[in-house]
Amino acid sequence: MPKKTAVKKTKTCPERSRRVNKAKAAKRIRKIFPILTKTYPEAKIALKFVNPLELLISTILSAQCTDVRVNMVTKNLFKKYTSAEDWVKADIKQIESDIKSTGFYHNKATNIKGACTKIIVHFDDKVPDTMQELLTLPGVGRKTANVVLGNAFGIQGIVCDTHVIRLSRRLGLSENKDAVKLEFDLAEIVPKKNWLLFSDLLIFHGRNICKARKPDCGNCPITKFCPAANKPALW
Ligand code: SF4
Repeated sequence: MPKKTAVKKTKTCPERSRRVNKAKAAKRIRKIFPILTKTYPEAKIALKFVNPLELLISTILSAQCTDVRVNMVTKNLFKKYTSAEDWVKADIKQIESDIKSTGFYHNKATNIKGACTKIIVHFDDKVPDTMQELLTLPGVGRKTANVVLGNAFGIQGIVCDTHVIRLSRRLGLSENKDAVKLEFDLAEIVPKKNWLLFSDLLIFHGRNICKARKPDCGNCPITKFCPAANKPALW
């Protein structure tokens, strides 16, 4: 008689067991949106800028850097470089030195110079206002493009930064870790008119309460709608 082989029981992986029900997720958004809006009436981009070019440069500089640091650097930077042409004409080493404290300064300097060159040559010295065109600029991915479109041109976009990704997963709005896939998931369940504000609200909530390491579920105003409440280790 053949020996019975033991079937090894595998633990259900929390990552795999989550399947997002879009109708339920959309309903959850309808519940949490007004609460977050009331909690963070000041929710908006923290980067300081006065025109689309400054916003584009600030957003490129903000990669792996805090908005506070970027604002400190750009305060003087934008007095020195006032146009795309200023950036193009500047010596790359000088740009690197000027933006050094934001980190990854070699890549950022190269991207800023490249983006400004392209803006002058291909876009008549104006920061383009479409996703397709913005994505042709060096150093510009969908996140940066959505920041610029939303905040400089009033065109709705979902900004998938680290907070938006983490909170969307904890709140059961998407199971994706990939920023672009998650952006498209959210676009299906968040009303378009609220795309930018919803991103800003999640960013504020992520900075203040739902932090990466120790989310403060005890003081969270949306606890009762959150599948990850009090069990953040699983998420
Ligand atoms: S209940 Fe906890 S995990 Fe859920 S959103 Fe609030 S702080 Fe984050």
